[in-house]
Amino acid sequence: MAGRIWVYLERGPGGILEESAAAVSFAAPAAQRWGLSLEGVCIGGSAFQIADAALGLERVLHLQGEGLEDFRAKAYGNAMEALMGDDPPELIVFPSTTQGEDLASWIGAAYHAGVLLGARSIKREGEGYVASRVEFEGKVEVDYLLKGRPVCITTEGQGPEGPSLGSTDVEVVAIPTAGAAEDATRIIHSDLVKRTVNLKDAKVIVAVGAGVGDEGTFQKVRELADLLKGELGATRAAVDAGWLSHDRQIGQTGAKVRPDLYVACGISGAAQHRVGMIESGTIVSINIDPNAPIFRYSHYCIEGDLREVVPKLIDLLKG
Ligand SMILES: Cc1cc2nc3c(=O)[nH]c(=O)nc-3n(C[C@H](O)[C@H](O)[C@H](O)COP(=O)(O)OP(=O)(O)OC[C@H]3O[C@@H](n4cnc5c(N)ncnc54)[C@H](O)[C@@H]3O)c2cc1C
Repeated sequence: MAGRIWVYLERGPGGILEESAAAVSFAAPAAQRWGLSLEGVCIGGSAFQIADAALGLERVLHLQGEGLEDFRAKAYGNAMEALMGDDPPELIVFPSTTQGEDLASWIGAAYHAGVLLGARSIKREGEGYVASRVEFEGKVEVDYLLKGRPVCITTEGQGPEGPSLGSTDVEVVAIPTAGAAEDATRIIHSDLVKRTVNLKDAKVIVAVGAGVGDEGTFQKVRELADLLKGELGATRAAVDAGWLSHDRQIGQTGAKVRPDLYVACGISGAAQHRVGMIESGTIVSINIDPNAPIFRYSHYCIEGDLREVVPKLIDLLKG
């Protein structure tokens, strides 16, 4: 069967992840434009969880079987391969998550098909697809020609309607899958970090870096965030130092954020951090080092010691 797009629906502890809903909303207009059917693929978990997150898909193929409860790239990759056989869909859209990136790469390699992680847009061109990705910290948008089948992408963005979790009436087709249990890896223990904050939707973020240094300064930065009605974010160094939990980390291995206002407090501006915040509307940085790289990417640069600058900003805001 040709002429179909799949979206991989990743499960989280509370059901289908919002990143998967964003992937569906990204894929849906494309399927409509090209007259292709749109199906979801979910591995493990319960049908109830999936039906509750129908997302406007035509149907969801639900792979079930021994060894599919916890994500392991090989087991999940094998299960998807067994389902596709030699008739894969034209395109598979994965959520922009570690799992999505893992699986997209696995399937692309297995079928010698084009893979792009972090696609912003996609269009058909001849026998393949042209997908674009924003690179060099937002400075350029690069087009990639992706050939083969199934072309696999993860998507940074979402469709114009945004993610739509919670619609109903999707047909869930249960597909028993055998033999997926064979895998060199075994989950022995997993620690789930409960997200307490949604940084992606925050309009104001005050981010803490290693430069915060002491409890008193940290509390002042927190007060500044409260006054600005913002959320606290962090660099990895600040998370490692114990100032904030990992769900507030921004960057390559944390959240990618686009607030209207981003205040960087004691942050050097390493590439792995910048990639998560560079698209913020206005960036204000406070750093004691005049040569801190973050200043090159900031709209407003405050050269000074956090211990002096932050209390002054608080006084100003309090009027
Ligand atoms: C694979 C990989 C993934 C990574 N993922 C991420 C990620 O997702 N997010 C992330 O943030 N990092 C990530 N990192 C780490 C990244 O490379 C940097 O180490 C990190 O971002 C540095 O954090 P920082 O700016 O808080 O600390 P530092 O680089 O130590 O900078 C501290 C800054 O504070 C300033 N400062 C010190 N004292 C004061 C003061 N009193 N007042 C004002 N300024 C002061 C200093 O001048 C300095 O510029 C990753 C690294 C790797 C290798």
